[in-house]
Amino acid sequence: MKKGTGLGLGVVKDVDTGTMPRTALILFGSPGSGKGTQAKLLRDCLHIPHISTGDMLRERIAAADPLGTEVRELMGAGRLVPDEVVNRLVEERIAQPDCRNGFILDGYPRTIAQAEVMTGRQQRLGYTPVVIHLKVDYNVIVARLTGRRQCPQCGTLYNLASHPPKNAGSCDLDGTALVIREDDREEVIRERLEAYERQTRPLLEYFARNGSAFFEVEGTYEKPQVIMQRICALMLRR
Ligand code: AMP
Repeated sequence: MKKGTGLGLGVVKDVDTGTMPRTALILFGSPGSGKGTQAKLLRDCLHIPHISTGDMLRERIAAADPLGTEVRELMGAGRLVPDEVVNRLVEERIAQPDCRNGFILDGYPRTIAQAEVMTGRQQRLGYTPVVIHLKVDYNVIVARLTGRRQCPQCGTLYNLASHPPKNAGSCDLDGTALVIREDDREEVIRERLEAYERQTRPLLEYFARNGSAFFEVEGTYEKPQVIMQRICALMLRR
């Protein structure tokens, strides 16, 4: 084990000095498995950027252009956005200079077609994918998604059961009134979970066939910080 402060300052050093391969850390799991929370914690630990396709798509919705309108309809129905749209967004984002030491993918790839594009890109650009599968019990997933609230200002996520805000209904960081994300409505949650089973879960087989570095991490019971340390340790050992 390398010396460090426990939360992986050793990892930060290794990544920054380029002694570790340029890594695409792929956080994989069902909606509500904690990918976004882990990505934010890991970003601060590994010092590589967090790329969330869901967040990028919400930015397009806010732009209210024709693409944003199409995305809003699909997302509002709990369906996936077309592969070409998401592939292009990711391609443009990882071309940015802050991705040169690696990056964390949250919510991508989500279909076999996206994974195939990613594999081609990885061979072309020379980075190493590492897949972390966050495994969480189905009932816990449903409870998390239905209790989720978000600050529309800074994006901070809360959960009424496991991580409530200090003052009911408002963000701890900036006091903005919290909202239920459009796609966290109950009927949409059902659709999103079905889309995961139908289109995304089959990627587990794809990763296995493809020989990607692959780790399963139990994400049901422990606090996010503990799960994050486990993932950091896996990254250190590579
Ligand atoms: P998320 O914030 O990752 O839960 O994503 C919210 C919604 O954005 C999903 O339900 C999809 O409608 C859309 N979305 C996010 N990432 C992707 C992706 N890789 N492919 C297709 N649609 C996506």
